[in-house]
Amino acid sequence: MCGIVGCVLNKKAAPTIIDSIKKLEYRGYDSVGIATVTDKINVKKGSGKIDEVDSKINLKDIDGNIGIAHVRWATHGNPTTENAHPHCDCKNKISVVHNGIIENYKELYQELKNEGHVFKSETDTEVIPHLIEKYMDEGQDLLTATQSTVKRLIGSYALAIISSDEPDKIIGARNESPLIAGISENGNYLASDVPAILSETNQIIYLEDKEIIQVDKNGIKIMDLDLNPIEKEVTTITWDPEMAEKGGFDHFMIKEIYEEPQIIKDTLSEENKIKEIVKRFKNFNRICFVACGTSYHASLIGEYLIESKIGIPTEVILASEFEYFKKTLDDHTLVIFVTQSGETADTIKALKIAKKKSETLAIVNVVGSSITREADHVIYTRAGPEIGVAATKTYISQLICIYLLVAYLDENQELLDKLHSLSGLTEELLTKEKQIQTIAKKYSKAKDFFYIGRGFNYPTALEGALKLKEITYIHGEGYPAGELKHGPLALIDDNIPVVGILPPGPSYNKTYNNLQEIRARGADVIILGANNDTQISDFEDKLLFNPIIDEELAPLLYIIDLQLLAYYISIEKNIDPDKPKNLAKSVTVE
Ligand code: GLU
Repeated sequence: MCGIVGCVLNKKAAPTIIDSIKKLEYRGYDSVGIATVTDKINVKKGSGKIDEVDSKINLKDIDGNIGIAHVRWATHGNPTTENAHPHCDCKNKISVVHNGIIENYKELYQELKNEGHVFKSETDTEVIPHLIEKYMDEGQDLLTATQSTVKRLIGSYALAIISSDEPDKIIGARNESPLIAGISENGNYLASDVPAILSETNQIIYLEDKEIIQVDKNGIKIMDLDLNPIEKEVTTITWDPEMAEKGGFDHFMIKEIYEEPQIIKDTLSEENKIKEIVKRFKNFNRICFVACGTSYHASLIGEYLIESKIGIPTEVILASEFEYFKKTLDDHTLVIFVTQSGETADTIKALKIAKKKSETLAIVNVVGSSITREADHVIYTRAGPEIGVAATKTYISQLICIYLLVAYLDENQELLDKLHSLSGLTEELLTKEKQIQTIAKKYSKAKDFFYIGRGFNYPTALEGALKLKEITYIHGEGYPAGELKHGPLALIDDNIPVVGILPPGPSYNKTYNNLQEIRARGADVIILGANNDTQISDFEDKLLFNPIIDEELAPLLYIIDLQLLAYYISIEKNIDPDKPKNLAKSVTVE
């Protein structure tokens, strides 16, 4: 689940390749490498972040107009220089970068080893250059040898391959890992995601599973596994490359949080498309959301909304657990998949299972991603590219889509009106920065946090705690406010700050009392409440005031305070919030 790039240029390729691969660093970043082809294969690679490796071995200082590069998120073998991609064959004539997992690599490894191939890494990937070598030794050209090789691979791959025997081209292939191509007057490109090459071209072609591509100076040629040519549409990407950059902020995460008021407006303007999609649904009497991580929390809010407003039985299943629930699917169940990247392996797998029996809807941010091609219906969240690994603006846009979906399923004009009134409230959301910084400073040394909320705001507690874990490495636990007394209250003391989500509404009094109980046990309580709430003044300076909206809409706005709190704690702790350790943006392994 890393990133790959390949470029065929009419000038030295390494500077462009390294600039491009840097834009994919968010997808996985334990090591990096580049290979170019001249009369031989030239490789430079190392473990660590791109800048660190670059400062040691100068990755751009490598000749050749054609090359490939990789940032790795290790699945097989530690993040060492030996395991970093590209990987080569025995004769160093073939070089390969790979995103994904080769499930049958052990059998292939044994077969190749028996035939005399010598391996240098512990990766699953290394069988690929050796298999290509074997087929080229039998007389096949690079394209045909790649074809023979991918036919033997079980698993997921996006591949880019070069060979010094055919130094004029890159061959690529895709199965269950994203791969796109780009064309321009100055060169032709392969990459695992659009931002990598957007500063070079906005003319993009999306590859599908089981397709092979040849990229050379004349253009690109896409083929099926039998090498029959496939006609492809060229998509013009309208994202400005600037949109994928930090735009003056210290980190992508804070930039993306500041985009949220605009995202709320932009996503609300998707209303008519959602209305049309709802009209196309067949009859259903049950809804099942499937998602992971932050998208799972957005889905939980969907469950509360549908159960309370429409009364259709609804459940939310973690994508990685979905296969254990598949027996109850039928053609009266609408299954909704929520994923930012549209490439989440767990979610794709669940969708493939669900679509055999049920109607499927995907709520996705990335146009053309794998999920969008599998689902019966697609709603785009339109949050733009999100680079910070911890989801922020995409969560807000997922929520807006889910609220709009529920409003149209329920034909609920009142809910629609309330949603539209949010646009006028968003300006005051980001005015608490100083106050949140002070709170972050005070609690940055805490070892544990609790987050509590009730009903619609319980998922907000879960999401607030997840942000904290992801980017501050502090243990945070989200809990239903009423549940603390059934166990976790035993943990509460003056070392554990508790964040209470307390918007006005029917559950206010109960949550308020729960917070007083917690306070009585010595914990510091940080409250997110409404501007006009006078009852909470005894919680003194740890109050974050929000626009006056009732508890069913509060999830759309209150989470912003919690994203900012996690962000500023991570800054206090000197952690890069955009690149939390052990995590990657697009989780393309199960
Ligand atoms: N499975 C390969 C490895 O561990 C590729 C991982 C990736 O996609 O970065 O090297």
